Amino acid sequence: MTKKIVKSTSKTKEHKYIYSFGGGKAEGKAGMKNLLGGKGANLAEMVNIGLPVPAGFTITTEVCTAYYKNNKKYPKELTRQVESSLIKVEKNMGMEFGNKNNPLLVSVRSGARSSMPGMMDTVLNVGLNDITREGLIKKTKNPRFVYDSQRRLIQMYADVVMEKAAGIDPAEGKGVRQQLERELSALIKKKKVKSETELSAGDLKELIIIYKKKVKEVLGKPFPEDAKDQLWGAISAVFQSWNGKRAVSYRKIENIPDSWGTAVSVQSMVFGNMGDTSATGVAFTRNPATGENHFYGEWLSNAQGEDVVAGIRTPNPINEVGKSEYTKHLVSLEKAMPKVYKDLNNFQQKLEKHYHDMLDIEFTIQEGKLYMLQCRIGKRNGPAAVKMALDMYKEKRIKKEDVVIRVSPSQLDELLHPIIDPKAEKMAKVIGKGLPAGPGGGTGRVVFNSADATEWTKKGETVIFVREETNPEDINGMRAAEAILTGRGGMTSHAALVARGWGKCCIVGAGNINIDVHTKTIIGSDGSKIKEGDWITLNGSKGNVYKGQLPMIKTDEKNKDFNAFMKICDEVRILKIRTNADTPEDAIKARAFGAEGIGLFRTEHMFYGKNSEKPLFLLRKMIVSKTEKERRLALDELYPFVKEDIKATLDAMNGLPVTFRTLDPPLHEFVPKNPAECAKLAKSLKISENDFNARAEILHENNPMMGHRGVRLGITYPEITEMQVKAIFEATIELIKAKKKPFPEIMIPVTCIDTELKHQYKLIQKVYDEVCKKFKVKEIPHLIGTMIEIPRAALTADKIAEYAQFFSFGTNDLTQMTYGFSRDDIGAFLPEYLEKKILPIDPFQQIDRDSVGELMKIACEKGRSIRKNIEIGICGEHGGEPNSIEFCHLLAFDYVSCSPFRVPIARLAAAQAAVHFPKKNYCHKKINN
Ligand code: PEP
Ligand code: MG
Repeated sequence: MTKKIVKSTSKTKEHKYIYSFGGGKAEGKAGMKNLLGGKGANLAEMVNIGLPVPAGFTITTEVCTAYYKNNKKYPKELTRQVESSLIKVEKNMGMEFGNKNNPLLVSVRSGARSSMPGMMDTVLNVGLNDITREGLIKKTKNPRFVYDSQRRLIQMYADVVMEKAAGIDPAEGKGVRQQLERELSALIKKKKVKSETELSAGDLKELIIIYKKKVKEVLGKPFPEDAKDQLWGAISAVFQSWNGKRAVSYRKIENIPDSWGTAVSVQSMVFGNMGDTSATGVAFTRNPATGENHFYGEWLSNAQGEDVVAGIRTPNPINEVGKSEYTKHLVSLEKAMPKVYKDLNNFQQKLEKHYHDMLDIEFTIQEGKLYMLQCRIGKRNGPAAVKMALDMYKEKRIKKEDVVIRVSPSQLDELLHPIIDPKAEKMAKVIGKGLPAGPGGGTGRVVFNSADATEWTKKGETVIFVREETNPEDINGMRAAEAILTGRGGMTSHAALVARGWGKCCIVGAGNINIDVHTKTIIGSDGSKIKEGDWITLNGSKGNVYKGQLPMIKTDEKNKDFNAFMKICDEVRILKIRTNADTPEDAIKARAFGAEGIGLFRTEHMFYGKNSEKPLFLLRKMIVSKTEKERRLALDELYPFVKEDIKATLDAMNGLPVTFRTLDPPLHEFVPKNPAECAKLAKSLKISENDFNARAEILHENNPMMGHRGVRLGITYPEITEMQVKAIFEATIELIKAKKKPFPEIMIPVTCIDTELKHQYKLIQKVYDEVCKKFKVKEIPHLIGTMIEIPRAALTADKIAEYAQFFSFGTNDLTQMTYGFSRDDIGAFLPEYLEKKILPIDPFQQIDRDSVGELMKIACEKGRSIRKNIEIGICGEHGGEPNSIEFCHLLAFDYVSCSPFRVPIARLAAAQAAVHFPKKNYCHKKINN
């Protein structure tokens, strides 16, 4: 009895590594992406909602993780679980794997939890060999189809399992896949036919023999005939492809953790290559390039699996509404197979209704019967993402909160993408046309391979990456390039999917130009010749290719969809968004982008750039002054310039707060190096050049970042602070008199101890009283506060809050001082730190929640313990970075402040944070996620 119980417990305890689906039932569901990968989870979900899906099973991502942890060995239970799951599939399909009379064939596919289009491997037709093919021929009475399937298996298997997964890295053009393709082309030529679809059964049978011989010759091993060997080889190859070059590069770019692993779905094959009543296709429930609400897709008759996305044949449009100028002559599925199309259309509607989002679906039609092979949330570009979210909101399918999370910050960025100057475009000559796969314009110099695209870009060139056909191996080049152009392939090809995901300008299937990657030339439709390094320009929204470099313009923020979307973000978010602006022009720009105030006005910036000559001269005069008297004289001269700038900025931000930071940088930064300039200054100070040089020498510092800067200047030279706050108060009064609503906030930088702030606070009060008296006013609206950018200040923020009405986190310096990394010198080591994974992120880009974030949290708590409603914001660069914005939201900040162009992104990131973490006073929950 006892024995029995123990036995059954151990049996039930066996870890489940496989989830089956088919015959109207599935063990998994859509919510199980982490375990089953996107593909496995959605296959299960489609079965659950009653769609026709061929039976199969999914091996979990846990197996992948264990496989890599365990020196590429599988958990011991896996063999048995695969065997028993295969039996279930066999029962469901009424066929047997490896059986010589009634063979079941399967596909073996990858599927990570977030989609990585084309980055991992797939093997189709597994289980086919010289024996099973005979059974299949007898059963289908279609020898041509069977031979075609077998030659495809050999081609794919040799490439994916025997070459890539074995770690063989052949030279360009020497890979087994290309060598087999060359054999196919040779046979097509020999048989005097136009394409492979015209090869006869006998031709294909001959090709199989040629292929097998070639595989042995190239890879030194025979192609495996045993069905089970094929299956395990394919499963291992898919797991291996998780760590393949393409997948690793893609993960790095997309920030997908290596630890996630891929699942493997093994599914019974259905065939799109059984003749003219069979087909395969890829579709989107809405147009992924424009967001328009119509079913959109591509199909190929008598074709299998990857043919549509591999870009080898340019596919047909799925329906009439999706036809373009370039595809209008091709027959649609709607016309060719109206009944199947009707079913497909019903399924896509059902799916969209079920998922409440645009889906990307794959299907196969086997002798007139439709099967769904995949569905996932479809990748889309920025403009399409915004349009779909707004449309679905109008259709009452989603809520405001969903609208906000449907668009990623980088997609929003695409709406602000450059386009070709329309005037120049009108005059330009089109040298090629293709499908508009990625939005906006791109201009650059032509390169023909991935390595060149990466290298040229590193050297500072902008390049257009040109290929004959799309190839996922080129991921790095695609990323580096300004834009992508291919001669073949459709809107659902890998290049199109990937480019769209990145919002990159891309044209595919430009069939009327001739691209030759070997001679590195393009012959345009007009006969013009473009060589490597020549400039071309692409319009990725129209599909036009132009010769030469056309001028680009940035799209503006007046786009209707953009504004409607931003309005929804504003309704959802809690954080306010300010901007870092140092000039009235920047302030106006930022306001147009939706800034609700200025979070950092760096006074010193009036001494750089346009119109800075005179004030800089006077500042320098002040710096090298020796006595307070001398300094005050110089400051008096400088005063009108400072006041004018402050007043113009307050005016531009009428009604909104402006945070003016008192002078921050070390003074020696402003000492002139040019002898003529030094002589001019010496003369104006009425001192000798030698005296001048001696004064300048004294200002030199060994470690200026930690030297005589920020509040330290205001303490050693109080007259500098006095002059600045006087300018702020007087400008404010003048504006109030002109019926404006200025609201200045005076911010003291680089504070490390409360006594510094106490000192400055008193000084500011003194000036305030004087100005009130002078202008006979009772009060001038303002706040006095400080930056928190030194760890000591954060740790003693309670004491500092006695004198501060607001805190603004200077996370640039706070990161510098927390890490002890010089913010100006990290270039020497940071890239390697990231490469070697010593650091997971660049802490100057994204707040490190464990260290800098912890200091911020302490400072907030301490500050609020003394002054409950102390205003808190951030003005370091992190204020425009979405993850850091979420962190500020979690700490219940009042605002984040970022550069003008980041304002829309910050509005969105703040709204997304509010959706993910809706309650106020969430401070400590989930802060370190
Ligand atoms: C900071 O340190 O984060 C900051 C905003 O100040 P600055 O970059 O001017 O030092
Ligand atoms: Mg700073």
